[in-house]
Amino acid sequence: MTQPNRKKIYEGKAKILYKGPKQNTIIQYYKDDATAFNNKKRSTINGKGSLNNRISSFLMEKINNLGITTHFIKRLNMREQLVHSVDIIPVEIVVRNIAAGSICKRFNIEEGKDLPKSIVEYYYKSDELGDPLVLEDHIIAFEWATNQELEEIYNLSLRINDFLLGIFSSIGIKLVDFKLEFGRLYSGEDNIIVLADELSPDNFRLWDNVTGKKLDKDRFRLNLGNTIDAYREVAERLGVL
Ligand code: UDP
Repeated sequence: MTQPNRKKIYEGKAKILYKGPKQNTIIQYYKDDATAFNNKKRSTINGKGSLNNRISSFLMEKINNLGITTHFIKRLNMREQLVHSVDIIPVEIVVRNIAAGSICKRFNIEEGKDLPKSIVEYYYKSDELGDPLVLEDHIIAFEWATNQELEEIYNLSLRINDFLLGIFSSIGIKLVDFKLEFGRLYSGEDNIIVLADELSPDNFRLWDNVTGKKLDKDRFRLNLGNTIDAYREVAERLGVL
């Protein structure tokens, strides 16, 4: 498993970050821990970490190949990835194609309604405040990102959405919504905006095209059971197992 002499940098809800072998690299270790409702619901889902590591590695690599830079370098083993160290922008970007979750409550919309246009939302990353929805002006005024960075983040999010919609549609899955995080990667004097964090059923809503079966973390959130089987099914359909 993990080497005992490794320096832990940070432990989050689903991952641990260790200092990487080279300067400005990090090892992302995927845990089996699951949390929902701002940490109020917690459990362990055996095998989740290794499945998310595989799914996320596969998708990040594809996105790198599209010419969208990500923090991902390579998958190291069952639970770990080597990634570039980035300065995380404290904003969660949610892209929605179909209404589900919080947007249904906020606007009293029925779950499953196709959105006529994909919606990009921003949430301030703060467990203490419960990740509040924020506007572009908050992000710029509070200096979480510059205007130019935010424009880049918005455009990249929509390109990533187009790409993921295609990938999931080809394996009979509807991409309902998902959350992204971006960071600044320093290269010389400059820095570029790159996709960071992970791309996995922990952060996506995925519904089977035919049956509508939920294949994502909602199985855990809503106590639907067989969460790990759903994650495994996504990995199998993507061909990464
Ligand atoms: N999401 C996430 N982390 C969060 C909040 C949301 O990964 O802290 C993902 C969630 O899995 C879903 C999408 O973002 O795919 C939209 O979530 P929503 O705003 O509907 O919130 P929820 O209903 O999950 O509270």
